Amino acid sequence: MDSSTAVRVIPLRVGRTKVPYGQFYGGLDGYSGLDLATDKSAFIWVPIHAYLIEHPSEGPVLLDTGICPAQAEDHAGYYGGTVLEYFTDDDEYDLPADQRIEAQLALHGRRPEDVSRVIVTHFHEDHIGSLPLFPHAEVVLGRAEYEARDSLILGLVPLAYKRSVAGVTRWRPVDFAGPEVGGFSGSHDLFGDGSVVLLPTPGHSPGSTSALVSLGERRALLTGDALYTVRHLAVDDVRQMQTGADDLFIDSVRRMQWLHRLLPDLVVLPAHDDTPYGELLVRDLLAHDGRLSQEAFAELKEYEATTFDAAYRLNPARRPRYVADPAGGTLGSVA
Ligand SMILES: [Zn+2]
Repeated sequence: MDSSTAVRVIPLRVGRTKVPYGQFYGGLDGYSGLDLATDKSAFIWVPIHAYLIEHPSEGPVLLDTGICPAQAEDHAGYYGGTVLEYFTDDDEYDLPADQRIEAQLALHGRRPEDVSRVIVTHFHEDHIGSLPLFPHAEVVLGRAEYEARDSLILGLVPLAYKRSVAGVTRWRPVDFAGPEVGGFSGSHDLFGDGSVVLLPTPGHSPGSTSALVSLGERRALLTGDALYTVRHLAVDDVRQMQTGADDLFIDSVRRMQWLHRLLPDLVVLPAHDDTPYGELLVRDLLAHDGRLSQEAFAELKEYEATTFDAAYRLNPARRPRYVADPAGGTLGSVA
């Protein structure tokens, strides 16, 4: 892969979401879908990121779309009459005007109508809420996710919320029929030039997809929610809650570990990474117009080296811990 097939990856900050600490970090503590509906005691805010991928000849591609204003400002109206109205909290999303996806695209000289393709990592609402702004775009996603679109999560919640996907005119489910990459037995090279290679990372949802993108001398794995943060690579010590089968999710993380071990030039770019690693990576990509500086790369590799050992076991000093609101509220933070 040479630099002529490199792309630029520009993080778009599309608000934030309030999640139960247990959903984000409690997978090894038995936190389950039932807790998700009933536990209202310990929340954290995490950022929502979509990514603008600028390809030299294929134009702008979006990976995920984040949320839309109605989800944040009229939650009950947006989800009214569906089980999601009861299953989620009215204040689960926060979206300042300057973080709307249109405003974020405009910062980089792009309008929604310029975007030719949207890669959907998975159908969760914080990733597809602004999809209605892109009715002209081809929507690329894993076939398993596409085929599960009408299935019910936890027997209750439709995987693809109708209002968020109603405007899509061109679905393009992909089959990962391309060559093996790292621990992955199949892949899909989106443009045929190695710049954006889609990989199957199911488990968080039935067909979760990640994108391995070339930044020239370095590469990034855009994981969506297949990993919530870089430290979730240590799947034996830090795990998010699963709505589906644990073994499928763990298998995907092991394959990401394998890829990460194989590619020394790889950094991990999830949608909600609230760690100093995630913050540095986003800040540096924004500061260098979608390219990663050598200085930041070295610092990120240092963070990885002090976070896991060679078997991806977590340094105990990096173990996440919930810090409750000293005033007794339900909103805490993560140490
Ligand atoms: Zn998410």
